[in-house]
Amino acid sequence: MFDAILIEKTEGASRAILTGLEEARLPAGDVTVRVAYSTLNYKDALAITGQAPVVRHFPMVPGIDFAGTVEHSDNPAYAVGDQVVLNGWGVGETHWGGLAGKARVKGDWLVPLQAPFTPRQAMAIGTAGYTAMLCVMALERHGVAPGQGEVLVTGAAGGVGSVAVALLAKLGHQVVAMTGRPEEAPFLRALGAAEVIDRAGYAEPGKPLARERWAGAVDVVGGQVLANICAAMRYRGTVAACGLAGGMALPATVAPFILRGVTLAGVDSVMCPREDRLDAWRRLARDLDIARLEALSTEIPLSGAIGAAERLLAGRVRGRIVIPLDPGAP
Ligand code: NDP
Repeated sequence: MFDAILIEKTEGASRAILTGLEEARLPAGDVTVRVAYSTLNYKDALAITGQAPVVRHFPMVPGIDFAGTVEHSDNPAYAVGDQVVLNGWGVGETHWGGLAGKARVKGDWLVPLQAPFTPRQAMAIGTAGYTAMLCVMALERHGVAPGQGEVLVTGAAGGVGSVAVALLAKLGHQVVAMTGRPEEAPFLRALGAAEVIDRAGYAEPGKPLARERWAGAVDVVGGQVLANICAAMRYRGTVAACGLAGGMALPATVAPFILRGVTLAGVDSVMCPREDRLDAWRRLARDLDIARLEALSTEIPLSGAIGAAERLLAGRVRGRIVIPLDPGAP
């Protein structure tokens, strides 16, 4: 038996519980992993609270990411004892996920744990941090380089945002952190933000074109905020858009794209090809300051995951949440 969060659906409503599971109940897959750490991402919080239809069938173990050790493998790429990481691929949505002592998955979904990270550090990064890296790589692909001007990060006190701030600052960008929690300004400055601005300034409908300010932007918010960011991009600037914490709509005009050559670069971590994942993890090992990673992550027990999901969706979680599942793991 191992502990797990299980989401069940009864009488049309989903409910998450902490329970014990037997290994025989794990889904099909060619690699079984003893999970060392998982985390709580925005999507996990949506799944646990049932606030959005993230879970595609029930019962479901949530957890879109985990790090752990291979216990059994029928996949030639992995042997017993290998340390591995999983992000996405529908795990925690259509296939049982990481908020459990064990997981059984397709070996093709795994990547080796990137040195020098411990399983705990890999999950302090988690899917949010790996997505932040994909966003930074998208900006680079479109020519956004240090020294070109200010780079904006929205939802900066959250998971993707805080890692993006730390990464961009270490790479030498002048980072401006946008937050709805001005009280988090000292935290954001400690991560490397040169300036912290209030989200309220971007929350209302604005002009199709505003004063050119941002050379690049990483946006996790979407909605009106993203529309206003597009309007304030500098000539040929790029926005990497990965989230919808502020809404799914995009009430924008084409003006920034056709008059300023602005690029809106979409970022998806779930189905991201393996080579790009490996690249992102290598880049995280090179470009993320471990001391800053420690500062932006908090550990909670599995029994706290359900309550933390509510707090995360209410925008009250700072940085990243890490959840240990194997008491002996580093
Ligand atoms: P967090 O909850 O950790 O952070 C989200 C942050 O967004 C909050 O901390 C808050 O930042 C801000 N925010 C929250 N609510 C609102 C609101 N109503 N309006 C505007 N801003 C708000 O989540 P994650 O960082 O894990 O994920 C962020 C987003 O990125 C989510 O939408 C998630 O689904 C998406 N995502 C997408 C991925 C992909 O593959 N495309 C992968 C990972 C995440 P602050 O307090 O600083 O304002």
